[in-house]
Amino acid sequence: MGRVSGRSCIVTGAARGIGRAIGEALINEGADVCFADINGEQASAVAEANRDRAAETGAGVTWAQVDVTDREQVRAMIAKTVATFGKLDVKFNNAGVNKPMNFLDVTEDNWNFIMGVNGLGCLIGMQEAARQMIGQGTGGKIINTASVASRQGFDNVAPYCASKWAVVSLTQSGARDLARHNITVTGFAPGVVATEMWEQVDRDLLDIGAAERPGQAMEEFSSEILRGRVATPSDITGTTTFLASPESDYMTGQVVMIDGGMTLV
Ligand code: NAD
Repeated sequence: MGRVSGRSCIVTGAARGIGRAIGEALINEGADVCFADINGEQASAVAEANRDRAAETGAGVTWAQVDVTDREQVRAMIAKTVATFGKLDVKFNNAGVNKPMNFLDVTEDNWNFIMGVNGLGCLIGMQEAARQMIGQGTGGKIINTASVASRQGFDNVAPYCASKWAVVSLTQSGARDLARHNITVTGFAPGVVATEMWEQVDRDLLDIGAAERPGQAMEEFSSEILRGRVATPSDITGTTTFLASPESDYMTGQVVMIDGGMTLV
């Protein structure tokens, strides 16, 4: 038996990067996984790419196109997952965006975009997953993607930091309010992970004059990481599978740092 066999899971932001890796690690341990993303075409391709592996581990695979800021689309994603797997046990609120700007240049649009996806998207995802779990009467697990930016400020990404502090706060508040329904809420906080998001951030930092050469920010961060290198998505998934598994049943309200010792908070 895999560590999460028979568990029905949704992962948002799963068309690439950390979300894809979370979903694939769950499949390796026998879970049924819905790969959900605003990029439906890519989410569907990821689901297809995992079908053979799922057949080997006894896992199930589906996908959904979803904008996590749209409650109706979130409900439709959950309905599709429940129609496919019969229930919802684990919900990863992982979709996230970043768009660096110098602090004085941050606009309302930039704030609303980042807070919308990372903050409101997390709240809606938690609420709708909880409603489904309460309706089932089964309890469940909600797992939110925070960041090292949940614990301290960083240059040129103020709305992102604010949005990720919000994720920690929603994790703690949700843990309190949902405990009586046998729903746990946890989070994990990666440091610097080599994904397409980070490549885009790197380009944006050059564009706004906050870096002089490509890769500069990542190099500078690397020197602050006790493990001596930035992470790959596979550095994150041991923890995320643990948080989805019965092994973590006594944890709630906690956000686990997975940052190679970049921050000691
Ligand atoms: P990524 O950009 O590679 O992947 C994010 C995915 O989210 C994309 O597939 C994108 O299409 C999807 N997405 C964006 N907006 C969406 C929306 N409104 N609805 C549904 N899906 C949407 O990013 P990643 O590096 O894999 O990051 C995943 C999560 O991890 C994010 O929450 C991010 O903030 C967090 N994180 C990343 C790092 C890092 O260094 N990469 C560090 C800490 C935290």
